[in-house]
Amino acid sequence: MEFNSLSQIQEEISSGNLSCAKLVDSYLDRIEENKDLNAFLEVYSEEARLLAIQVDEKLKNGKAGKLAGMVIGIKDNFCFADHTVSASSKILENFNSLFSGTAVERLLKEDAIIIGRLNCDEFAMGSSNEYSAYGPVKNPNDKSKVSGGSSGGSAAAVAAKLCLASLGSDTGGSIRQPASFCGVVGFKPSYGRISRHGLIAFASSFDQIGPFTQSVEDTALLYEIMAGEDEFDSTLSSKEVEKTDFNKPEPKALRIAYYNECLDNENLDPEIRQKTLDLIDQLKAEGHTVEPVEFSWLDTMVPIYYVITTAEASSNLARYDGVHYGYRSPNATDLESTYKLSRTEGFGTEVKRRILLGTFVLSSGYYDAYYGKAQKARRLVKEETQKIFENFDFIISPTTPGTAFPLGQEYKDPTVLYLEDIFTVQANISGIPAISLPLGKHSNGLPFGMQLMAPAFGEKELLEFSQYLMNKG
Ligand code: GLN
Repeated sequence: MEFNSLSQIQEEISSGNLSCAKLVDSYLDRIEENKDLNAFLEVYSEEARLLAIQVDEKLKNGKAGKLAGMVIGIKDNFCFADHTVSASSKILENFNSLFSGTAVERLLKEDAIIIGRLNCDEFAMGSSNEYSAYGPVKNPNDKSKVSGGSSGGSAAAVAAKLCLASLGSDTGGSIRQPASFCGVVGFKPSYGRISRHGLIAFASSFDQIGPFTQSVEDTALLYEIMAGEDEFDSTLSSKEVEKTDFNKPEPKALRIAYYNECLDNENLDPEIRQKTLDLIDQLKAEGHTVEPVEFSWLDTMVPIYYVITTAEASSNLARYDGVHYGYRSPNATDLESTYKLSRTEGFGTEVKRRILLGTFVLSSGYYDAYYGKAQKARRLVKEETQKIFENFDFIISPTTPGTAFPLGQEYKDPTVLYLEDIFTVQANISGIPAISLPLGKHSNGLPFGMQLMAPAFGEKELLEFSQYLMNKG
């Protein structure tokens, strides 16, 4: 049993060949067979089986929601009532959530079946899933390679068909980069589209929730169900969530921009570069206008991102102090040693590095030089990005400079890994939607993604164009 979209599953169910109960069993078998990927930190076997029986009953009575037959995994930073959420950190090991976040609630209301909790980099910081306190996730296409990160478990689970879809979070590329490495669709909506209520915060002005799927159709469906106003997140836009229409005629004469600075990037793999050029040619041949635009900010993307996100993280992660909840060091003897030891022992190296960096850029005497400057630069990048969209519908680029890299590389310099994010962070810095489509296959056997960015709240057009590109394949 292998499915690529919910509509395929629903067809099978309505023709009487399949039930949710059977479907869940088959996913559970596959999860068991692929345990070595380390994608799931926890599988809700019994619960998923029971829920499947209930959904089958609802289907019989014609009362099932839109997601009946959708078996989904959630990244380990989504709060789900009475389930553990650890952000793949030791500091939250065995922490049980008292409530479900809005995105999770909305999926459950439509009868999605949540099958388990997916591994990720600790507090969603990383690009390889190797910063999880529970071990890395292997790439299903080649188990000696990383899955990408931080939502590596979410990407690997969908790629290996351990569930039909999954949820991830994207602060600087954590949905799109692993989607590219594993060969699935990964979508980050505009900032302010999906409620972050119940998502463990990393950098609050960047974080967005989004889906991983095999098809653009499922991405659109999940997005539309999760998006829209919510009283628990005041940063949400009240703009209407428009429905995508995949039946309309092929788009004509679109205007698409690309950056020479990106194609000339020294770290860009030559085959990925060629694929991007081929895609540009293909689009031109189909009657679209595809032109280079100057984007001189590319080299500043990663520094802007790391200054602001670490500052926000240092503040967001202050709550893990050994007092309120989570890990408390058994060696603590007073308040100060409770703070110090719990945080020292509870957090991993990368998270500590970022807390220190964030505290530094916010500290008096350095605030203006780093944090203040990065905020100004962020504003300029946002304006520059908006300017591009005055003349273009989309910006196209590779999602990542290379394909999935080997597990276990030693990084003496953490900024080498930070450069993975060079093409993805612009969307987070400027709050716009972006998607990675699995359009590339490298001669090394690994998949890679092409990224499309659209103006803020242009999800409908972005998804429709994505479907068109996937069909052209
Ligand atoms: N790789 C980026 C980082 O380490 C992205 C993380 C994310 O999007 N959550 O910060």
